[in-house]
Amino acid sequence: MSAQGSAEGVVVAIDGPSGSGKSSTARGVASARGLRYLDTGAMYRAMTWWMQHHRIDIGDAAAVAEAAGRPDITMGTDPAAPTVRVDGTDVAREIRTQQVTAQVSAVSAVPAVRERLVAMQREIIAQARRSGGIVVEGRDITTVVAPDAPVKLYLTASAEARAHRRSGELSGSDVAAIQADLARRDLLDSSREDSPLTRTADALELETTGLGLDEVIALVVELTDRAAAAAGEAERSAAS
Ligand code: C5P
Repeated sequence: MSAQGSAEGVVVAIDGPSGSGKSSTARGVASARGLRYLDTGAMYRAMTWWMQHHRIDIGDAAAVAEAAGRPDITMGTDPAAPTVRVDGTDVAREIRTQQVTAQVSAVSAVPAVRERLVAMQREIIAQARRSGGIVVEGRDITTVVAPDAPVKLYLTASAEARAHRRSGELSGSDVAAIQADLARRDLLDSSREDSPLTRTADALELETTGLGLDEVIALVVELTDRAAAAAGEAERSAAS
C-alpha cells in the first residue's frame, strides 16, 4: 500500500538529538513512499552560515534577531537530492563545516530566527501535503512545527552510537571529540527557552542503538502506511 491513502498527504514528523539517525531514516522513508523530505537542521545551518558570511556577531542575540529576515533560504525537498540555497548559492557543503556546527545552536536559540524558519517550514509542509506528503526532521517538529502530524517519532541512540555514526559521516575524525561536541549541542538544544528539544507524550520513541538503518526505515514506513490508511478510511466514512 502506498502512503497516499488519503487525499491530503501524510506528514511524518521526526525529532531527536544529533546523530540519532533522523536524516538517514527520514530520507529513506520519503524515498520508499514517494514523499518530499525536509531537513530543518539544514535551514538553521544555512541561517548560521549567512550570519557568519555577513560578519554578524553571533554572540549578540539582538544583532542576530535583526538580521534574521535578510537571507533568502530555499530548500529543495527531493529525498534523492535535497538542496539548500542561500541568496541563490548552493551551500550544501558549507553548512556542514565545523565553523557552522560550532555556532548553529546559538543562532537557533534566537526566537526571531525560529519564528521565520518555522513559518517557512509550515509553508513547505502545507504545499507538500497537496502533493502526496512529506517527512520532516529536526528538534521541534513534533512539538511546534507540526504537532498535528499523524506520525510523530522521537529517535534516540546511545551517545557512543551517535558519535560513531557521525564519525563515519566525517571521515578521519576523532570519535571522542565528536561525542563531546554532540553532548554540548544536545545540552544547548534541550535547555534553550524557545522550542527546546523534548519528547512529547504522544511521540513514539524509537531507540535505534542496536538497529540497522534498514530496520528503522522499515518500521517507520509501516507506521506511515498505517497512518495514511487510517486517514483514507476516515475520509471515506466522512464522505459516505
Ligand atoms: O540536525 P542538525 O544537527 O543539522 O541541526 C543543527 C542545529 O540546528 C541543531 O543543533 C539545533 O540547534 C538546530 N535545530 C533546531 N530546530 C530544528 C532543527 C535543528 O533548533 N528543528
